[in-house]
Amino acid sequence: MGVGVDSVKEYVQRHRLRHERELADWIAVPSVSATGEGMERATPYALELLERGGLSARVVETGGWPLVVGHTAGPADSPHVVIYGHYDVQPAGPLEEWHSPPFEASVRDGRMYGRGTGDNKGQHLAQLLALRALRDTQGGLPCSVTVVLDGEEEIGSPHLTGTLAAMREELAADLALWSDGPVHDSYEPTVMLGVRGVVAFEITVRGADSALHSGNWGNVAPNPAWELTWLLSTMRAPDGQVTIDGYDAGVTPLTDAEIDAVRALPVDPAAMLAGAGLDRMDAGHGGDVNERLAMPTFSINSLTCADNNEHRTVIPSVAIARCDMRLACGQRAETVIDAVRAHVRKHLPHAEVRFGATMEASRTLPDAPYADLVLRGVTEAHGKQALAVPALGGSLPIAALTDGLALPCYGIALANVDERNHAPNENFELHRFHQGIVTAASVLSSIGRR
Ligand SMILES: [Zn+2]
Repeated sequence: MGVGVDSVKEYVQRHRLRHERELADWIAVPSVSATGEGMERATPYALELLERGGLSARVVETGGWPLVVGHTAGPADSPHVVIYGHYDVQPAGPLEEWHSPPFEASVRDGRMYGRGTGDNKGQHLAQLLALRALRDTQGGLPCSVTVVLDGEEEIGSPHLTGTLAAMREELAADLALWSDGPVHDSYEPTVMLGVRGVVAFEITVRGADSALHSGNWGNVAPNPAWELTWLLSTMRAPDGQVTIDGYDAGVTPLTDAEIDAVRALPVDPAAMLAGAGLDRMDAGHGGDVNERLAMPTFSINSLTCADNNEHRTVIPSVAIARCDMRLACGQRAETVIDAVRAHVRKHLPHAEVRFGATMEASRTLPDAPYADLVLRGVTEAHGKQALAVPALGGSLPIAALTDGLALPCYGIALANVDERNHAPNENFELHRFHQGIVTAASVLSSIGRR
């Protein structure tokens, strides 16, 4: 058991209700970056939260929604840790599907429901409360800490890399930590080392001005749906291999240590598939499930014909494919975009491609500085050996820290697997919120004991 972890546990137990109330108050401040709902009040509220956590904080303008940044000093020569989180949330989505109002915290069966409970207010609040817990139980912090709360994560953090680069000196640190997303499917304690990137795009093929009678026009008018599906079939083969030249340029194979870490992760492919109602695995990329989840992907998200949602015997006028690619380490968003654009231009020049927000992949190796100390901190908090996850399947703007600031980054996800982030009835199991405070405190004290 790490130094002080027991007293933090006891402290967290004693302050449960107060901590839950603080989370409920934070949920009651909408902060929807996509629409701007509540943002004007949310930024000063986030600032106040940092100040309450004992940090000297300020608002940093970005050109979009601002960042909130705060510092607090640990002992001289102690490591400097950056903690990244985001105070913006997803829009509520369909209100009729919520069992309680999205911006009014409601506790049912040990879970707090509300938009942002898991993603990300509950998780960065746990980090902030850990600072307070350490101060109150240990008399001070074991390391220097800078907290960065992003106001634009849910819209792809378009200004984060640039803003952090301009703050390079202030953010000269030893490592970064982040808490977002659900814990590992197996519920084993884990530390995320890398994060996949993402490129989203939409391919549109247009035909006639409006839908045409398939009897009067078949074999005469080109069918955008056939053209689009043919184009898509040139992009990924039935065996799952992506056939777009150069899209995977730069992908670096996993190191031996990463492969070992991947293979150590518990996974039950049959149960995973059955749980999703599946009886077969995708043909793409060999290897076990965890290796597949670290590799590049190409997904068709939806296929639509704008003017033919019910079955009518027509030739549609427009066909649209919405797609995304998850990027593995070393793959660059710009390279992927160029490769997709060139492929479409070569195979179906009249198709239009429009790219959405992108995020780069990030990588921290299992033997990077502080990796062992972060794992030790999580292990001590749980009383169970923590495992390293080389690459998170989803995407987060962590490359702004790994590539932009050259920091090793460690993700300590706190939320339950069924947190329903981005969906109605988002929730955070309260015992995980409280355990998250202990875990965050334990990691900082492990880093301080280097
Ligand atoms: Zn999110």
